[in-house]
Amino acid sequence: MLRLPDAELAELIRPSGYFNQKAKKLKAFARFCLAKPDWSREALLALWGVGPETADSILLYAHRREAFVIDAYTLRIGTRLGWFEPGAEYHAAQAYLTASLPREPELYGEFHALLVELAKRHCRKTPECAGCPLRDRCRFARMRP
Ligand code: SF4
Repeated sequence: MLRLPDAELAELIRPSGYFNQKAKKLKAFARFCLAKPDWSREALLALWGVGPETADSILLYAHRREAFVIDAYTLRIGTRLGWFEPGAEYHAAQAYLTASLPREPELYGEFHALLVELAKRHCRKTPECAGCPLRDRCRFARMRP
């Protein structure tokens, strides 16, 4: 990756969106990986282009650490279900889920994957609650006319 010119790398990741910036960030990350990195959350967050979601994704999926990943899907579903209040921040949502689930990286990954699937099938921006498996537990669905 580091040997590729930025423009070539950007072209390869074009479908992911924001590809020019991402190409530079990927190279910064690749340089970090080559430098006997400190795989702590703090070290990852200090990297250019790495925020909490990316840092936790690396820790969970690459290192099997106990880091629940919060993304827009999780915030949307969790808010609608009543797990957190609207506007909940990353760490508040993460603290809620971490306190509610057994501290097992495999389970965190599976749980998150199921949230993503639910967001794609039912809990879209405009939700399709009919047929949603969580409908009986959902604050948003109960409040709908
Ligand atoms: S019932 Fe509706 S709002 Fe609630 S989680 Fe399912 S799709 Fe989302």
